[in-house]
Amino acid sequence: MASIPDLSGLLQHNVEWAEGKLREDPHYFERLSGLQTPDYLWIGCSDSRVPANVITGLAPGEVFVHRNVANLVHPGDLNLLSVLEFAIGVLHVKHVIVCGHYGCGGVHAAVDGNAHGIVDHWLQPIRDVAERYEDELHSCSGDDARHNRLCELNVRAQVQTLARTPIVRATWEAGTPLHLHGWAYGLGDGRIRDLKCTVSGPEGLISRKVAQSGTGSDA
Ligand code: ZN
Repeated sequence: MASIPDLSGLLQHNVEWAEGKLREDPHYFERLSGLQTPDYLWIGCSDSRVPANVITGLAPGEVFVHRNVANLVHPGDLNLLSVLEFAIGVLHVKHVIVCGHYGCGGVHAAVDGNAHGIVDHWLQPIRDVAERYEDELHSCSGDDARHNRLCELNVRAQVQTLARTPIVRATWEAGTPLHLHGWAYGLGDGRIRDLKCTVSGPEGLISRKVAQSGTGSDA
């Protein structure tokens, strides 16, 4: 019979962390367990190097998190839509942040021409973005620049997809403020870039016809 791997180091770290928190604030967990009021919903990549709380300096309770491979917003993804509906309708978050990252393996896998399995279905929206912006990507100087630009274009496209979901549209129609942001994180320097594609209402939607004609600069 195979032996059970020993994860006692993780559990020991947890004990030390919890004890440390209580030393700083004896009511820390008591207070946190009774209240969750984050202002932010984070939609990020599953990549272990991009932990939302850590890179934004936010404490437990301050950011609601959904992560998947390559930070995608599939309009029929019940997991993401459930998170989105809860975050907006119950937690009343004011900001949804789609945060991609340079050097994203998912973005790379989407366009490297190799077969990877089920994830190839998941990554289809990235291939759509790459096709839509083929000329711009082609003009990038080198593979790294092309990859980084596709990471950015992917984030911008996901923000636009998010803005088109019935949940977000209904929120705006009800007059509730909600801002959708697109960011990109640099694994090499730890810095987040604001991609300046924030959408705060239906007027921020970019016509797909314009985007596809190549005259638009977004989505
Ligand atoms: Zn990634």
